[in-house]
Amino acid sequence: FMTDRYAVVGNPIAHSKSPLIHAEFARQTNQDMAYAAMLAPLEDFAGTVKKFQAEGGKGLNVTVPFKQEAWKLATLLTDRARLAEAVNTLKFEPDGTILGDNTDGAGLTRDIRENLAISLAGKRVLLMGAGGAARGVLLPLLLQKPERLIIANRTPKKAIELERHFAAYGRVEGGDYARLAGSLFDIVINATSSSLSNALPPLPQGVFAPGALAYDMMYGKGLTPFLQFARDNGAAQMADGLGMLVEQAAESFFLWRGVRPQTLSVMSLLKSC
Ligand code: NDP
Repeated sequence: FMTDRYAVVGNPIAHSKSPLIHAEFARQTNQDMAYAAMLAPLEDFAGTVKKFQAEGGKGLNVTVPFKQEAWKLATLLTDRARLAEAVNTLKFEPDGTILGDNTDGAGLTRDIRENLAISLAGKRVLLMGAGGAARGVLLPLLLQKPERLIIANRTPKKAIELERHFAAYGRVEGGDYARLAGSLFDIVINATSSSLSNALPPLPQGVFAPGALAYDMMYGKGLTPFLQFARDNGAAQMADGLGMLVEQAAESFFLWRGVRPQTLSVMSLLKSC
């Protein structure tokens, strides 16, 4: 019997933390598996995936910029991946089926609920951004039954499109940042890429309700401009996206191996390196 092979595929991929996370999960749960980082050429994602599958690979994580291509490549989709139109996890079944899932939203909601011990039910939630990361988390967020979920985006049209796309699954509204003035939110999530360029989304002051959580999906940058703004404007708790990263990995691991690994020790490990 051969060791089961997995990988994370992206471009670039050298700095991915996924190999470390999955090696730790495998060690913890005694799984005979290997997990590598794999660079795919920008013009040949499908070829790279098919080759890995033909060689007996069991599954892939997919990252920037291939999540939409992975969605197209999958022959069977989970509901959350179908709606997100983005896939971050592929599972190659023995009968040739390519199952596509998106575990980003489960990772985010699990991090908020389990690790931060904050319920989303009945809360006023603001999601900033309408790109791939926002799409990926919308269904799992709505399934937590927030009182209201507002999507704000610099290009409002994209937020309004998401409102239409997800309207059947809960109370969701999309628009620009200006309309947020005067509203209060219990949970504010930054799903924009603004922190990458050290920028801040144009969030009005005074949107943080007493006790509010500010969550930045970005990780490894310390206190981002958004988290600083949140701290200065009355947010009670600040979190970066490291927990989401580890939890989405755990969800993928569970899909592949049927075992749920422990995440807190892996989060501590990543914080220390
Ligand atoms: P996309 O490129 O698909 O979308 C970017 C979004 O950010 C758009 O909505 C864009 O608005 C908005 N944006 C960019 N710059 C600014 C700015 N200066 N002010 C306001 N809005 C801005 O990126 P993704 O959705 O794929 O990724 C977003 C972030 O999420 C990344 O930083 C990534 O690191 C993080 N992420 C973290 C994960 C985790 O596990 N922790 C998982 C997945 C993503 P517009 O539409 O107007 O251009």
